[in-house]
Amino acid sequence: MSSHAQTHTDEENSGGESRFSLHPLPWEQAALDPVISARTIGYHHGKHHRGYVEKLNKLVANTPMQELSLEQLIRHSAEDPQLLAVYHNAAQVWNHDFYWHSLSPQGGGNPPQRLAQLAEQSFGSVEKLRKELATAATGLFGTGWAWLVQDGEELKTIATDDADNPIVLGLRPLLTIDVWEHAYYLDYQNERGRHVDAVLDRLIDWNFAEQNLSADFS
Ligand code: MN
Repeated sequence: MSSHAQTHTDEENSGGESRFSLHPLPWEQAALDPVISARTIGYHHGKHHRGYVEKLNKLVANTPMQELSLEQLIRHSAEDPQLLAVYHNAAQVWNHDFYWHSLSPQGGGNPPQRLAQLAEQSFGSVEKLRKELATAATGLFGTGWAWLVQDGEELKTIATDDADNPIVLGLRPLLTIDVWEHAYYLDYQNERGRHVDAVLDRLIDWNFAEQNLSADFS
């Protein structure tokens, strides 16, 4: 292919047809204030999340990967070291969509009954689940995500590095907390633990986690 043809193709790709979209937030940008400021959400959704969507669209343009769902693309690219950039961006798009829904202005408090029962079976108590999730989020070295996941009948908390997603580990994600610095640095600077505690106290959406107990992420 000549360099001219390549340039022409890239221009076409930057036009109207993009395979994946930046989904709108499920609440107003200032809805999580003061736990997470409108400014943080603005950068996080409008710059970081948007950046992953745009990069992913460039990477899959004019390839068979355009035919895959986001979940299929995550699985497909996770198995191929040549597709590491696709995997990173696809997983980050998925993780952020999932993260926004893991937070709610009416969040915090106690999980609904079914989730609370499972938490008692798996962790001993809801309070222990909360503590394990906080430990996963604060204990992760560097960038990544803390997750509540379902493994068979059991609930577990895990932390994943960078973009990694529980789907490729054969686990069902129930909710997530973004612990990349861009998620909290404007509001909390280096105090990740204080941010995580505030999220768990006031924003975490246990109802979303309960709905995901029967979700199919294939
Ligand atoms: Mn993020």
